Order: sequence, then C-alpha cells, then structure tokens
Amino acid sequence: MKTAFLGLGGMGHGMAANLAKAGLLTGVYNRTRSKADDFAAEHGVTACENPVDACENAQAIVICVSADADVLEMIDAITAGLNDSHTVIDCSTVASDTAREAAQRVGRAGAHFVDAPVSGGTEGAKNAKLSIMVGADDAVFEAVQPVLSAMGSSITHMGPVGAGQATKAVNQIMVAGINQAVCEAMRFAKAVDLPLDKVVDVVGSGAAGNWFVNHRGKTMVADNYAPGFKLKHHHKDLGICAHMAEQNGGRLPLAAATRADYEQLMADGYGDEDISALYRRRSDLFD
Ligand code: NAP
Repeated sequence: MKTAFLGLGGMGHGMAANLAKAGLLTGVYNRTRSKADDFAAEHGVTACENPVDACENAQAIVICVSADADVLEMIDAITAGLNDSHTVIDCSTVASDTAREAAQRVGRAGAHFVDAPVSGGTEGAKNAKLSIMVGADDAVFEAVQPVLSAMGSSITHMGPVGAGQATKAVNQIMVAGINQAVCEAMRFAKAVDLPLDKVVDVVGSGAAGNWFVNHRGKTMVADNYAPGFKLKHHHKDLGICAHMAEQNGGRLPLAAATRADYEQLMADGYGDEDISALYRRRSDLFD
C-alpha cells in the first residue's frame, strides 16, 4: 500500500522512517520545508511543496500534526485530490468529534478515514514499537494493516471512527496521574538524599515500574527536559479529556490538576519541554 506522510515532527519523523524502511513510503510533506528536504535526502523519497502533491501516488495518507485545527486544515488541503482509492489515517491526538468530522470531510470525496492515535513516545515512533488505537470500519481497518504494522507493535481495533481517539483520551488521563506520581516521588527521593539514578533503576524494575519512570526518570532528575512529548501537547489532550468527561456528566480531578500545572509551566515559557518538566513544579513540595 503506497503511503504518503504529512507532518514530520518528533513523532512523524520516526513513523515515516519506518514506512520508508518497509518500502511503503512515496512522498512526504512538512509545513517547515527544510525538515521534509532533510528527511527525503536521508530516505530516498520525494519531499513535496504542498500536501496534495505528496498524496499523488499514494493509496494511504498518514497525518501526524499537532492539534484538532491542524488536522482539519491538512484534510481540507488534500480533499480535492482524494477519491475512493484513498484512505486517510490520522495519527495525531485529537478529539473523537474531530475524527468524526474529518471522516465526513474525506467521505464527501469518496475516501476512507481511520483515527489511529499512538502511544509509546518518540522512542516508540523511532523503533516501530508504538501502541496504536484504531477507530475504523472493519474492512478499512483490515486494508490498512500493512501501514499500521510498519509503525507499531500493538495494533488494536477499538470500534468505529472516533473510538481510537476515545481510547487515547484514557491513555492521556493515565499519563497525567503517572507523571504526578513520579515527579512527587522523585522530589521525595531527592529530599531524603537518596542516589536518584539508583532509585529510578530499582523502582523501575519493581511493582511501581512504568514506561515514564523508566524513560524519563533519569533525565528529569538531571534537569533535562528535552522532548519527548511536549507538555503543551499533553495540555491540549487533557482539555479534550475534560470536555469528553463533561459531555458524559463527569470530571477528572487528577487530569485537571495536571493541566493547571502545565498552564503555569507554559506561562513560564516551558511549553515546548517534555512533560517530565512537571518535576520543576514539584520543587514546591520540599524546602
Ligand atoms: P511536534 O514535534 O510538535 O510536531 C508537530 C508537527 O505538526 C510538525 O511537523 C509541524 O510542522 C506539524 N504541524 C503543526 N501544525 C500544522 C499545521 N497547521 N499545518 C501543517 N503542519 C502542522 O509534535 P509531535 O510530538 O510529533 O506530536 C504530533 C502529534 O502526536 C500530536 O497530536 C501529539 O499530541 C501526538 N503524540 C505525541 C507523542 C510524543 O511523545 N511526542 C506521543 C503520542 C502522540 P512544523 O515542522 O512546520 O512545525
């Protein structure tokens, strides 16, 4: 299945590289042209001036951009070139409503749509180890298997369009709580004067072990917050989660507290740092 890729950011770069390795990638587009040129030179594919050109010879079109408005902008930019031979696969994290709106817009051109948000960080993107949560019709899900399996190691069909994004919202709520727990615990470890790298190693391989402490624990305690996962993106995701909770008559206190922490970090100029920069805020817990 010949595939085009739109959006070569922290995630998209690794995902597109794995599609190239699998021999599926035809063209790439990135808003900042230099990133597409560098990628094309490295992987022997075509860097395109605009998204429509990138889709020209492709049957699948993967999108991985920042937020809801950006996804719809990309969709509107390509719909003129779409027909029933095309499937658009959106791997960005957006609202389920946005996924359904995107499906309608590509559907008007006769094309198919899959929401396929991912988890596993930039490391997972690079190593084709992403966990992919998919919303799609059964037949469309089957058809895009070669594309998804080139990028991920766990691919789960969650239901119709929108179900992938709803599952990703669950993931993001959980990440908020894990981030809070790890940052608070590591500030405590520092306060009681433990060797912090050893703490990460020992708790990371016990019952409290998790992806976040194992991949971000040591960099966090060294005050290195290079992304990774930009906290402004997690802030955006937690807004989606809050809205969905509200629509269902509920609330998410832990996610709301984390969102408020991110808001402060963004106001302080740290929005492009990794979500582990929450550790900065938790310096408020000990003298
Ligand atoms: P990123 O490094 O900030 O990259 C964002 C990409 O989107 C860039 O290629 C950017 O182009 C492009 N873009 C943004 N707005 C655009 C627009 N209006 N039109 C065209 N292109 C646009 O973000 P990322 O970390 O790759 O994340 C991408 C998506 O995956 C987000 O939805 C995020 O929530 C999700 N995600 C991230 C992670 C992670 O660990 N990083 C994990 C799972 C899911 P420019 O290069 O021109 O800026």
